[in-house]
Amino acid sequence: MKSLNISEIFYSLQGETTFAGLPCIFVRLAGCNLRCSYCDTKYAYKTEYTKTIPELIKEIEKYLPAKLVTITGGEPLIQSNVYELIDKFLEKNYKILLETNGSLPLDDIPEQVYKIMDIKTPGSGMSDEMLWDNLSLLDSKDEIKFVIKDKKDFNWSVKKIEKFKLEKMKVLFSPAYKYLDIKELASWILEAHKNLRLQVQLQKYIWGDRKGV
Ligand code: SF4
Repeated sequence: MKSLNISEIFYSLQGETTFAGLPCIFVRLAGCNLRCSYCDTKYAYKTEYTKTIPELIKEIEKYLPAKLVTITGGEPLIQSNVYELIDKFLEKNYKILLETNGSLPLDDIPEQVYKIMDIKTPGSGMSDEMLWDNLSLLDSKDEIKFVIKDKKDFNWSVKKIEKFKLEKMKVLFSPAYKYLDIKELASWILEAHKNLRLQVQLQKYIWGDRKGV
């Protein structure tokens, strides 16, 4: 029976994206193909336990009537069985947010899934890993996230937004946790006069630097 390597499963408030503040079930899959300099989920590199897909469905049904689920990581797309999990969630009418690091192809993601795709900046050390063709697979409900470490990252990101005409999309700018002051990022966004959304990691403001929230 197909199974998945899990880091953690929990019920909390979605802390990021335009869904921020909504109660949500999180399925954090284990493992990542990247190693970003500012990664705050290094614990997800390691598998804590495995679950078959029926076991996983049963686990998240504990949180009914919650029907919003975030599949995250690590990088969820490195496990090929994630596609079957997505299909099962859709059959059960879950609204799915898929958080992905942008380095793996999105061609096989069903259109009902809300894709939240990172664009890795130079400050992450992983910008050469980006699969730029993914941008053509995003639609108006999807979201693009830049984690900004410094002014150089900010300027680089604005150039990418112009080059790929991303302003019509939902574009999120987050300060890299423990690297950039949010006030500084806020002032850069205002100075740039761009249609960007400043994003805080709400869960860190509520619960601090903890797992499972
Ligand atoms: S893609 Fe995400 S989980 Fe992977 S190293 Fe980067 S920040 Fe960490």
